[in-house]
Amino acid sequence: MENVKVDDTTLRDGVQMPGIRAPSPKERLEIAHYLDDIGIDRIELFGTWYDVDRKSAQMILNAGFKAMIGIWVRANKNDLDEALRLDGIKGVGISHPISDIHLTYKLNISREEAFKRIHDAIQYAKDHGLIVFYHGEDSTRADWEYEKSIIKMLTELKVDVYRVCDTVGVGIGAHTSSVIPINKSIPDKISEIKKNFKIDIEFHGHDDLGGAVTNTMIALQNGATYASTTMLGMGERAGNAETEKVIMNLNYHYNISKYNISLLTKACHVIHDAMDIRIPSNKAIVGENVFTHQSGIHSAGVIKNPETYEPFSPESVGNVRRLLVGPLGGKNVILFKLQQILEKEGITEKIDPNDGRVKAIIDYIQQNLFGSGIRRSPLTDDEFEQLVRMFALK
Ligand SMILES: [Zn+2]
Repeated sequence: MENVKVDDTTLRDGVQMPGIRAPSPKERLEIAHYLDDIGIDRIELFGTWYDVDRKSAQMILNAGFKAMIGIWVRANKNDLDEALRLDGIKGVGISHPISDIHLTYKLNISREEAFKRIHDAIQYAKDHGLIVFYHGEDSTRADWEYEKSIIKMLTELKVDVYRVCDTVGVGIGAHTSSVIPINKSIPDKISEIKKNFKIDIEFHGHDDLGGAVTNTMIALQNGATYASTTMLGMGERAGNAETEKVIMNLNYHYNISKYNISLLTKACHVIHDAMDIRIPSNKAIVGENVFTHQSGIHSAGVIKNPETYEPFSPESVGNVRRLLVGPLGGKNVILFKLQQILEKEGITEKIDPNDGRVKAIIDYIQQNLFGSGIRRSPLTDDEFEQLVRMFALK
């Protein structure tokens, strides 16, 4: 697992997400900066077709990032010629489907024709000195024997990485069985490729059945080198495996500390600002609720030792801890927030829970506001401060 690498495709698959605002070249450059600072190993980009994509890709190539820049292209000479016009280009991700459903209905070509197109595009890219990552689109629905013939050809052409694309998210972390064929079994498929072919493996998982992150981790555990992911899981339909989740799983479970996790939350906010994608409050790692505690039992635990309900600290991932006074809250959190406010005012003495004013404010909040049902949402910090003033505690 130490050699694991992350390919972030927020600026390719991510920007294909329906409904978002397309980021400007300047915004894409800023996002790429964050990805590079996090330590992402490869950044995947569009770099052909449209002026805005070419301009963005050129700006990012010019920035001299540590991350490898991979330009995503289709398996044809035109796309490759366009990519080759980019100054400083080193690698391309050549995408072409390999499942019968895609070959028949999307492209209307035979397996043999697809084989030839893939072969010729790779040969062309290699002849021009490019590093080639080949993406086997819809691999988890492809015929396994056909897929193996493609992988064999990749090794003969000295392709650098084979990407297993779980394009519609039907891959599963279970072993092959009477109901799970090998093309969908992520552990067996990756192990078989690893065992039989000399090529680095990458896994690109979609989340249609909710398994993108788990499948990605299973792929890595079974010998894949690269995880292909997007920040916030952006992407087509249900999106991709989240970069931040995969990185935190590597960090937490496997002690892989080469990624700067303290930038994860900030990077997601930059992406939010650029593309107008909402960050759900309960989004793992970077959501506002992830280190917010409101219920009495949880707050009491966190006040004594945050590890009671936080597997890692908010500071470690650039997030912040919040304690809310709300329904189901206990008096501990009121006392804790009261102490914080007084400390801000320079009052250091410990609050006496038996002080009549303290008892009155606790009683008012618990009984009059929340107990009565008059108030149903948590108090904002401003509202809490007003109450503190009202009860002459400040
Ligand atoms: Zn995808």
